[in-house]
Amino acid sequence: MQRTVITFDAHDRISGVRVDSANNPVFHIHLNADPKAKVHEWACNSPYCENVGVNSDPHPDDGGPEAVMQGREPWRGGSR
Ligand SMILES: [Zn+2]
Repeated sequence: MQRTVITFDAHDRISGVRVDSANNPVFHIHLNADPKAKVHEWACNSPYCENVGVNSDPHPDDGGPEAVMQGREPWRGGSR
């Protein structure tokens, strides 16, 4: 079976390992076309993002919203 090795960097928002039923990594790519942006492309595996691909919000380093990571949902209320 062919395996694709994916490397992530510090700008990415990858939390743990999420895989689909075929054991492929689940993530998406955010893109920011703004030439002034510090981060133009980053990987993310938050299950809650809606604005991905070319319609992404800016990266958090560029003032965009922080992705909600699985297990750290603020509505879980674990750290009240
Ligand atoms: Zn995302």
